[in-house]
Amino acid sequence: MPTKAFAAQSATSPLGPFTINRREPLPTDVAIDILYCGVCHTDIHFARNEWGFSQYPIVPGHEILGRVTRVGAKVKKFKVGDLAAVGCMVDSCRECSSCKKGLEQYCLTGSTFTYNGPDKHSGGMTFGGYSKAIVCDEAFTLKVPANLDPAAAAPLLCAGITTYSPLKHWNVTKGQKVGIVGLGGLGHMGVKFARAMGAHTVLFTTSPGKADDGRKLGAAEVVISKNADEMSKHAGSFDFILDTVSAEHDINAYMALLKLDATLVQVGVPPKPLPVNVFSLVMPRRTLAGSLIGGIAETQEMLDFCGKKEIACEIEKIRMDQINEAYERMLRSDVKYRFVIDMASL
Ligand code: NAP
Ligand code: ZN
Ligand code: ZN
Repeated sequence: MPTKAFAAQSATSPLGPFTINRREPLPTDVAIDILYCGVCHTDIHFARNEWGFSQYPIVPGHEILGRVTRVGAKVKKFKVGDLAAVGCMVDSCRECSSCKKGLEQYCLTGSTFTYNGPDKHSGGMTFGGYSKAIVCDEAFTLKVPANLDPAAAAPLLCAGITTYSPLKHWNVTKGQKVGIVGLGGLGHMGVKFARAMGAHTVLFTTSPGKADDGRKLGAAEVVISKNADEMSKHAGSFDFILDTVSAEHDINAYMALLKLDATLVQVGVPPKPLPVNVFSLVMPRRTLAGSLIGGIAETQEMLDFCGKKEIACEIEKIRMDQINEAYERMLRSDVKYRFVIDMASL
């Protein structure tokens, strides 16, 4: 089915109109008309080949929310007219030890990512949510809580799960002191979730103008990370820090704030390596770790948690043709706190 989309044709060209082909729904497929798609910083890394493995043309977008228009004969979870969502993955091998544990994002044969991944059906590459419609196996399609605003729920599919999953995995609980570094799409959800899990949440930001918002979103304290004196007051005091920064920065400054045996988890993926001062690992014994999105079952758990606690994202709706300007604003850390494309504009 020919489908309108927006694509980057090279690392240096702005995104523009493009037509892709979506497959006819197979027996276990759900066809979705996309209502909203969030704009993740990963979309910029890929559109501009900052990680070095982009294959053009690229249709970014993996925070997809829409309405079901058709279902295959074997589909059980969805019917026509339902809200449905697709995140960062559309498939995996479903058989390896990671997939069996519900960790499809760490599939040993490689999960099929929603865009710029080898498409098992077309033989080409997958195309993401900057498009009017998508067809996805129901096993990788998520249910959306009815009480959430659909536009504000869309970014939960990446920004939400990417922050929820490590907070859960490292057992963040009430009474702990937890740091969130960077108040962008991921960071603002990190603040909301850490607070919802009962932690004493501290936001680290390079943008003094975001301090009030940080407190409103749930931070008990806000630290301007460029201020070394403010940083040093927190030395050795954190149980857990989640770093969402998309660009080069000094992670040693944050490692120094961890307690004995505490962990800093990197979810931001700056294109260049981040130097680690080994002293900040050994004195006292500390852990530096990473985390990639979350599995499908955990993504559904996160969406249900958000429905129950009425948690969604702070968004600014844009038209599809504003995407290039939105990228420039994100690069200036000027997003409050997630752009969401209204697909009616495409
Ligand atoms: P975003 O909305 O652009 O937010 C990034 C934030 O980082 C900015 O708002 C800014 O916050 C801070 N920042 C930016 N440049 C900085 C610099 N030079 N030094 C210090 N801080 C800086 O991006 P996002 O969509 O949240 O994504 C963040 C990163 O996570 C990206 O690298 C993305 O690819 C990655 N990501 C990873 C996963 C995963 O599974 N691991 C999933 C999704 C995204 P302040 O203004 O508050 O300082
Ligand atoms: Zn993302
Ligand atoms: Zn697998």
